Amino acid sequence: MQILFENASLFRAEPDRPVVEPRMSVLVSAKGRIEWVGDQGRVPRELLAEHEQLDLDGKLLTPGLIECHTHLVWGGSREKEFVRRLGGATYEELLLAGGGIHQTVADTRAASSGALFEAAIPRLEAFRQQGVTTLEVKSGYGLTFDDELRMLEVIRDFDEKTTLDVIPTLLAAHAVPVEFKDDRTAYLDMVCGRLIPEVAKRRLAVAVDAFCDTGGFSLAETRRVFEAAKAAGLPVRVHAEQLTRTGAAKLAAEFSAFSADHLEHLDAEGIAAMREAGTVAVLLPYANLSLKSRIPPVKALRDAKVPVAISTDCNPGSSHTTNLHLMIALACHLYGMTPGEALLGVTAHAARALGLEARIGRIAPGLDADLCVWDCNTLGAIPYNFGSNLILHAWKRGRPAL
Ligand SMILES: [Zn+2]
Repeated sequence: MQILFENASLFRAEPDRPVVEPRMSVLVSAKGRIEWVGDQGRVPRELLAEHEQLDLDGKLLTPGLIECHTHLVWGGSREKEFVRRLGGATYEELLLAGGGIHQTVADTRAASSGALFEAAIPRLEAFRQQGVTTLEVKSGYGLTFDDELRMLEVIRDFDEKTTLDVIPTLLAAHAVPVEFKDDRTAYLDMVCGRLIPEVAKRRLAVAVDAFCDTGGFSLAETRRVFEAAKAAGLPVRVHAEQLTRTGAAKLAAEFSAFSADHLEHLDAEGIAAMREAGTVAVLLPYANLSLKSRIPPVKALRDAKVPVAISTDCNPGSSHTTNLHLMIALACHLYGMTPGEALLGVTAHAARALGLEARIGRIAPGLDADLCVWDCNTLGAIPYNFGSNLILHAWKRGRPAL
């Protein structure tokens, strides 16, 4: 059956016009696609078949939210490290001392697939409750051939448990595991020579990510990972310019990356390259806050018209949160983004960071009917209610998802 949404305050998430239009109608086809969008009461009669009519009474209707950067699957907890960082220890100090990600890698390897799955379900559910209809999840805490595949299998199995679309990313180049610290090349040989081709063959991930920074991989090593991804037909993304300036954003642009993420130390050259390549800037405000890092050059990104996405970076170390609505508010506070820009960051621009902009992220004819109804009628109400969840209902491809 079709669904006809009436009397909506509509946020279509069109990047060049991030506004709310009052008294709007949206018609969803029986196949779960957006069929028509227009003024209240103007839906052409010939388009209407048997349908359910929902009067939204002026409430805000937006695309389903898209969380485009998470490390949702992990073993153990980093609470103790978090408390040490509150006391002044830096992320790099903890990493070089064998803590940080290495702790999570040890705990993830030690956990069964079932335990990893069960631990991640409440996080997945927290996102669903916030109107998230598409969620990206990275591997990157296995760091062996078998454990990375195992993480991606856990991520694949989420599909049976949730209405969300889960988008898997291979992040084997997250860190050099401790057992390879004296032979980094051997680890990269495994990742590039065996793992990436295997993941592509089994379609266990739709993109390859890398952490190009201090404590991670050099620019030359990241290039090697990107070349292997390209050879396997997988698009790339990168954790770039977070702790130091490396030139990773420019490298990402050279490989037409979907996104470059973090970007605290992004320079003008990187911005120009990203604009040229259409690479999305994914900003992660809680990671900024928790690592006390510098603020990415948001104004320069805006001036260059580089699309900016916003994400939780949900992970056990630097950003232990599932609250995407709080990230919208932090993007306004920390980055000076308008509520409209921040909402684009979790809809249209986040879709683009996943290479899915032709299917999701906006309310326009032909796109999937991924939709949210909020208990407000303006965008400002979202950051104003700092971190509160105002979502009333959500639909995934026209089917109730919340
Ligand atoms: Zn990350």
